[in-house]
Amino acid sequence: MMEGLKGRIQTVRGAIEPGELGFVLSHEHLFINLLPEAFRSARGEPIIMEKLGSLRRNWASNVENLSLESEEDAVYEMGVFKRMGGGTLVEQTVCGLLQNPQALARVSERTGVNIVAGTGLYSHQYHPPEIAELDESRIAERFVREITEGIEGTGVRAGIIGEIGLSWPVHPDEERVLRAAVRAQRETGASLSIHPGKHHEAPRHAVEVILQEKGDPERCIMCHIERTYFDIEPMVALAETGCCLEFDLFGQEYSYFPTAPIDMPNDAVRINFIMKLIDAGHLERILVSQDICRKIHLTRFGGEGYYYLMEYVLPMMRRKGMSDHEIDALTRGNPARMLAFL
Ligand SMILES: [Zn+2]
Repeated sequence: MMEGLKGRIQTVRGAIEPGELGFVLSHEHLFINLLPEAFRSARGEPIIMEKLGSLRRNWASNVENLSLESEEDAVYEMGVFKRMGGGTLVEQTVCGLLQNPQALARVSERTGVNIVAGTGLYSHQYHPPEIAELDESRIAERFVREITEGIEGTGVRAGIIGEIGLSWPVHPDEERVLRAAVRAQRETGASLSIHPGKHHEAPRHAVEVILQEKGDPERCIMCHIERTYFDIEPMVALAETGCCLEFDLFGQEYSYFPTAPIDMPNDAVRINFIMKLIDAGHLERILVSQDICRKIHLTRFGGEGYYYLMEYVLPMMRRKGMSDHEIDALTRGNPARMLAFL
């Protein structure tokens, strides 16, 4: 059905060849609002230097921090990313998180960065009310339409399904959405990116659902792996199912996780896990990114910016002994394989 897209990647400005991607950040946000709809009118204090330190300790302490809505900020940040050698950004803001596909197309146009947009639904608190009434096939149709025709009638097409948001325990509406996403994955040949609940059983549960729906785990990306598993054994076991493990919180080095009792690793620990996965034979099952989704991540707000991984993490990988071949797999080869339509 997606004949013209086979082997190619669908960006917000049309299809490109895998060789045109360059360096890829596999899981980011340029436009997002992390507040559920009912709370969106809330305004916090302006983000000023005096408040930056406390926001870095607790990113949830000011609602102003929880949205990215400025097109000028996005153009500025993508300009820096491009100048530092960046090629492509996968933007995983989906319905309910205030996605802005037309702005993505303009930012891509103005900066030359390839942007791949997502279709999907985030966790149930963010579902539009009609989702509770729709069955799996109707939800799947919606995802397929956003890939073949455009996101919410804009004509800007999605190139990946996700991030699909799951809680723990999985809400029944979320499970229906996941089943629909697997159907859309099978029908379109796109890959499927899953934000698992914050529980060690969550990723395997999602893989079970994929298998029940006769989906292909090799087309699945499990996001935020480093806040879900804290040991190498479950990581290796998940890689053995065929699914990609995404270490997508690079640069987020705070130890206090405001919304759950999670011991966040730092970047060095993330790289140690990645190297162990490579030793276990799973180089092809690893993706990396920064999941920028709050203002304090932006260079304009004193944050790390989208160039951080290229500039600071890659040298650390080399210093720890990773080869150029391995780094290329994480940042170019694996994303190209996962983004190319089957
Ligand atoms: Zn995300």
